[in-house]
Amino acid sequence: MKKGYEAVIIGGGIVGCATAFELAKRGVTDILLLEKGFLTSGATGRCGAGIRQQWGSELNARLALESTQIFEQLEEYTGYPRSCELHQGGYLLAAYSEKEWAQFQENLKVQHALGIDARAVDLAEAREIVPILNTEGMYGATFCQKDGHANPFHCTQAYAQGAQRMGGNRSLHRRYRLSDQEWPYCRSGNHKGLCREQSGHQLRQHQSA
Ligand SMILES: Cc1cc2nc3c(=O)[nH]c(=O)nc-3n(C[C@H](O)[C@H](O)[C@H](O)COP(=O)(O)OP(=O)(O)OC[C@H]3O[C@@H](n4cnc5c(N)ncnc54)[C@H](O)[C@@H]3O)c2cc1C
Repeated sequence: MKKGYEAVIIGGGIVGCATAFELAKRGVTDILLLEKGFLTSGATGRCGAGIRQQWGSELNARLALESTQIFEQLEEYTGYPRSCELHQGGYLLAAYSEKEWAQFQENLKVQHALGIDARAVDLAEAREIVPILNTEGMYGATFCQKDGHANPFHCTQAYAQGAQRMGGNRSLHRRYRLSDQEWPYCRSGNHKGLCREQSGHQLRQHQSA
């Protein structure tokens, strides 16, 4: 292993891989990505991968809007040859109290100011959108067709492989524990082979095994 890198990223989840990609896109390709398990072995590989723009704070809503725009063309953006399986089936958010319904209306103002295409729907339309929905006790709902979900494994791979390509396949996806203390097998000698530096190619083989 080299002694220094332009950037060292700890964690091969969606955040680490997206960070690697965005750095590589900006010309920083001498990157070491440290992952103690395998790409997506953390929260990313366990998440529902819901992507929604219906937030109440401007910061969250803006972040979600811009993220959605990236997810809508992630394959093209990263050069990923497969589909990231974005499905924009819409999120229907239901309010079950007057207070919650008032908050939803405030949220819509924040969303509309940013150009997010969310809207209030009455109970009849809520039932049309989700036919099995029991609207008893509901005050109203908001709906955004562009909300949905994607495949977290493909999204992470899209970023990881995109970053790797931009680095000339040299710099990314080496798999280490940060220290022996964090990996008891290293000390006991078991699985010692996995401690060694792996090339991106070897890691891909490992992941697909
Ligand atoms: C059940 C569930 C449902 C969720 N649903 C949604 C949802 O619908 N929509 C949404 O946007 N978000 C959702 N989330 C949140 C989302 O999964 C996380 O915000 C996101 O995955 C965080 O990505 P990350 O890369 O920061 O973390 P992670 O994916 O956890 O990546 C961190 C990586 O770091 C590695 N690591 C940790 N310590 C070390 C170390 N010392 N050395 C080397 N590597 C290390 C881990 O192995 C891991 O792979 C959900 C989360 C869960 C658990």
